[in-house]
Amino acid sequence: MQAIYSYQAPDDLLKDRVILVTGAGDGIGRAAALGYAAKGATVILLGRTISKLEAVYDEIEALGKAEPAIYPLNFEGAQWQDYQDMADRLYEAFGRLDGVLHNAGILGQITPLQGYNPELWKQVMQINFNGPTMMLQALIALLQQSEDASVILTSSSVGRKGRAFWGAYACSKFALEGLSQVMADELQNISNIRVNTLNPGATRTQMRAKAYPAENPESLPAPEAILPAYFYLMGPDSKGVTGQQFDAQAPKKA
Ligand code: NAP
Repeated sequence: MQAIYSYQAPDDLLKDRVILVTGAGDGIGRAAALGYAAKGATVILLGRTISKLEAVYDEIEALGKAEPAIYPLNFEGAQWQDYQDMADRLYEAFGRLDGVLHNAGILGQITPLQGYNPELWKQVMQINFNGPTMMLQALIALLQQSEDASVILTSSSVGRKGRAFWGAYACSKFALEGLSQVMADELQNISNIRVNTLNPGATRTQMRAKAYPAENPESLPAPEAILPAYFYLMGPDSKGVTGQQFDAQAPKKA
């Protein structure tokens, strides 16, 4: 099988699909939203900073692609009812969802467990895991309206093997891996929804620069360079693939 990091997506891969991207205003989420729109999708741009979402909206308009939508939401404060309202509003506007890329997240502290600020721990778990879980619970009914729906949850290498000092961030990614497996198993035989996790690997973004301040950003791929895996998992070529873990970059040669 062709490696997903060298997948070549046709120009109309996502034609007529409605896809929600969380954290669409910056970094990898911004690149994925633009890439999905370029491949024909109607993209719902979700995030907490409206000016950033508006800038992505304008970029998609300038491409002459399907008009996107903006959905402002902060995972830190949003409650159960906010996600129910979100599902209602998306149902009224689109009637279904063909895909969700859950990409938003924060790093928290990189510090020994003993000194980890407990309030920050809760904040990281809320933004990276609890909020997105409530969102997905609310969106399952909309995904069930699609003939071919894909959910991608963004993981990390530290969400698959724990590493010292990565604290709540690592635990939140392990939790997303668990959610992906539970959802995939529950939905496998009763719906057209597939659910997988994707580890972007080291990518040139603000989050990466915060985690590794001494690293030369130019030594890392830009978000646009890691999109083939995001296309493969979102498009019809991954139909039937569910409950699996993927990497967006080839393993580094020793
Ligand atoms: P980034 O540039 O910091 O982007 C994160 C996005 O999440 C931003 O759009 C941000 O919005 C949004 N976000 C943060 N808190 C939010 C909240 N409370 N509510 C709604 N949206 C929120 O980071 P990135 O590097 O692109 O990371 C994207 C994903 O890849 C994350 O899940 C990260 O854990 C994962 N990842 C990244 C790397 C890497 O090397 N870059 C490696 C492994 C995994 P604002 O811009 O408004 O803050």
